Amino acid sequence: MEINENSQFIPQEKILGQGYKAGEGNNPADSVFNKVLPNALTVKSDELFSLARKSSLWTLSFGLACCAIEMISTHASHHDLDRFGIVTWPSPRQADVMIVAGTVVKKMADPIKLLYEQMPDPKWVIAMGSCATNGGPYYKSYSVVMGVDHLIPVDVYVPGCPPRPEALQYGILQLQEKIKLDARNRDV
Ligand code: SF4
Repeated sequence: MEINENSQFIPQEKILGQGYKAGEGNNPADSVFNKVLPNALTVKSDELFSLARKSSLWTLSFGLACCAIEMISTHASHHDLDRFGIVTWPSPRQADVMIVAGTVVKKMADPIKLLYEQMPDPKWVIAMGSCATNGGPYYKSYSVVMGVDHLIPVDVYVPGCPPRPEALQYGILQLQEKIKLDARNRDV
């Protein structure tokens, strides 16, 4: 990259389809960081790690009832969560997000707590749908927990019965925002 007499970078314009040579492969694009702050970056380590964490969320693969169908659809190709760095993972040992998708019956309370405790810190929970949020259509039923937050801490609630995949996607984006803001606001 060329620099003028005032130490400013001279932008190099490349005409589409020209300037490429056969057999040379691709070159990495110019680094935005190097243009704005050449070789220097000052940031709290918490904030830096939170950027990595929020962009590589692994969600635990499990579902409890009808909301799980919408969650599966959100992970499928049409909605493509991979573009947010989100993959679904079949073991709590490596997962960092639990999406509670469905009715939490009392029989499932202990397994849910166990799965949550098996996940390593830091970890986050999304309550998907009205059942996981507050019992939903089974409000005050003899067999249903009135919201999964009676068992484990919840970070984001996604309303709906069931919520559409776009609603879950929005909930995940809100969780990413929360991870970023929590790191920024944490006392050193
Ligand atoms: S919120 Fe509605 S769709 Fe979701 S699990 Fe409960 S009853 Fe099923």
